[in-house]
Amino acid sequence: MPLKTESEPIFFVDAMLGNIARKLRLLGYDSQYFSDIDDEKLIDSARKEKRIIISKDEELIKKAQKLGMRSIHITREEEVEEFLEIINSVNLKRIQINGNIARCPKCNSLTESVDKEIIKERIPQGVLKSNDKFWICKCCNQVYWEGTHIKNLQEFVGKVNERLQQSIK
Ligand SMILES: [Zn+2]
Repeated sequence: MPLKTESEPIFFVDAMLGNIARKLRLLGYDSQYFSDIDDEKLIDSARKEKRIIISKDEELIKKAQKLGMRSIHITREEEVEEFLEIINSVNLKRIQINGNIARCPKCNSLTESVDKEIIKERIPQGVLKSNDKFWICKCCNQVYWEGTHIKNLQEFVGKVNERLQQSIK
């Protein structure tokens, strides 16, 4: 099992950035997200849970800063660049895909690996044949496999890491 340190950042992702929230969750980062939430509620909840706010909304960022809360202001339009803005603000130790630590992209809960036999009724035949590893969300029961769970993210993570390498050189 991978080690989880206490200091791992947790996030509250603003409504406009659903794709970022899903990617952070798949990478194993606890990221709260609601597609519809007002600033006051978001700030309140982030403050209680000590979450770092990620937002494109300058007003929201200013409010958070006034309250002494950690926040990351996203200014770019392109997803790889947006992700790099996050990485530059907080030191994310892993930008890698690992099904065993991924969180459910739908609800942010932890997932666990599940035996094929148990979920076979719920999965299309073709998927069952071509996959051996499956995960299930502990909260919403959504089943994932490499096709959706991991491979979609692989290219993105590749690009992010490439850009990180370039910036080190
Ligand atoms: Zn879920």
